[in-house]
Formats: sequence, structure tokens, C-alpha cells
Amino acid sequence: MNKRERMEAIGEEVRNLDSSPLYPYRKENDYHPVIGEGNLNADAVFVGEAPGKNEAESGRPFCGRAGKILDGLLETAGLDREEVYITNIVKDRPPKNRRPTKKEVSIYSPFLMRQLRIIQPRLVVTLGKTAAEFAFEELNTGEEFSAFKEIEGKIFEFEFDGRQTLLFPLYHPAYAIYQRTVLQQMNEEFRKIPEFIGKNKLVLDKLATNQKVKDS
Ligand code: URA
Repeated sequence: MNKRERMEAIGEEVRNLDSSPLYPYRKENDYHPVIGEGNLNADAVFVGEAPGKNEAESGRPFCGRAGKILDGLLETAGLDREEVYITNIVKDRPPKNRRPTKKEVSIYSPFLMRQLRIIQPRLVVTLGKTAAEFAFEELNTGEEFSAFKEIEGKIFEFEFDGRQTLLFPLYHPAYAIYQRTVLQQMNEEFRKIPEFIGKNKLVLDKLATNQKVKDS
């Protein structure tokens, strides 16, 4: 199976996941599960917590208010939504936007791990505390999860399927909706991403060899 087919197989399994406690809520409300979207060869994967109402209605990740913030942050970093991959740990909307339970995280996170295996990114950016906690438990950084504020904005390394991969735990974009200082901080943090994924290097290499940067 190629990458697209493997990702579609995950979508199919999640759509049929009637053992999930969130499945009846999805059906009652005519919601969709949100699998993720973007480039299956992305260098950077962004992982949120769980879909909100807009996302569950459309089946697309980060398409509501937090999504607008994320779009702005990506733009600041010079990244297009199409070149990265955006997903969540939990693929169904929890009622009233409550935080997903440990059980829900454990039901859905194997799908995220499979998605990461398909994409094999250089960098995983977690958005918010739930995603950071999960990453520290599952991704073998060799570090304990201390308080979120201790790890937020720092870069960690882990080995994933035999590849050195970076983990960058950041705030959830929803947290920046009303907090200008958080938004400023997130803008600065997002500007580091091209360097982490070697994108600046690519641009510099192209300049050095006189190739047109625009063509990349
Ligand atoms: N919040 C999330 O964590 N994920 C989304 O897709 C939207 C809002």
C-alpha cells in the first residue's frame, strides 16, 4: 500500500470506530471524525488535542477560530498549510469541548502513531498541554514531562523508526486568541520552525548555487 492508501485505511478504521465512547456523540450530531490533512511527505507535523465543533462539522482540522490563529502562525513561519500535515491526537469531538479523557487518548493515539510512521516527519510540533503530555509519554525523548511551562518552546529529540526526530511543544493556538503576549511568543517560536526542518538551509543552498529560490 502506498502512503495515501495507508492513510485512507486509517480514516476508514476511525470512521467505523463504534467502540469509542465518542462515537455515539458523533452519530447523534451528524459530526465527522477528523483524521488530518496536508502533505504525506511533510517535514513538520502539527498535533492538536481534538476537533472542536467547526472541525467535527466539516471533517477538517483547525478550521475554526483556533485554526485562523494557526494559519497566521504558519504564514509568519513562511509555511503553507499544504506543505505541512495537521492533525489531532483524538479524532472525534469530545462533548462541550472538554479535554479528552486518558481513555480517549489511549483509544485514538495509536492512529496518530501510525500517521507519524507514514509521514516520517523531521519535526513534530505539539499544540497545547494534552498533546505535549502524550508526546512525552509515547515518543521516548528520554525526558520526564514536568510542568508544561518548563517544556513549552524548547526543542527535544527522539528516535522514531530509526530516525532522529525533533519535538517542539508549543501552546495551543486557542490560548492566543485573547492573549496578545502569547500570540507574540508563538509567532517567535513558529519562526524557528523552518530552521528545524532544514528549510532555511535549502534556501541558502539554492542561493549559493544560483538557482531560483522561487522554484523550490
Ligand atoms: N483544537 C484542536 O486541538 N484541534 C482542532 O482541530 C481544532 C481545535
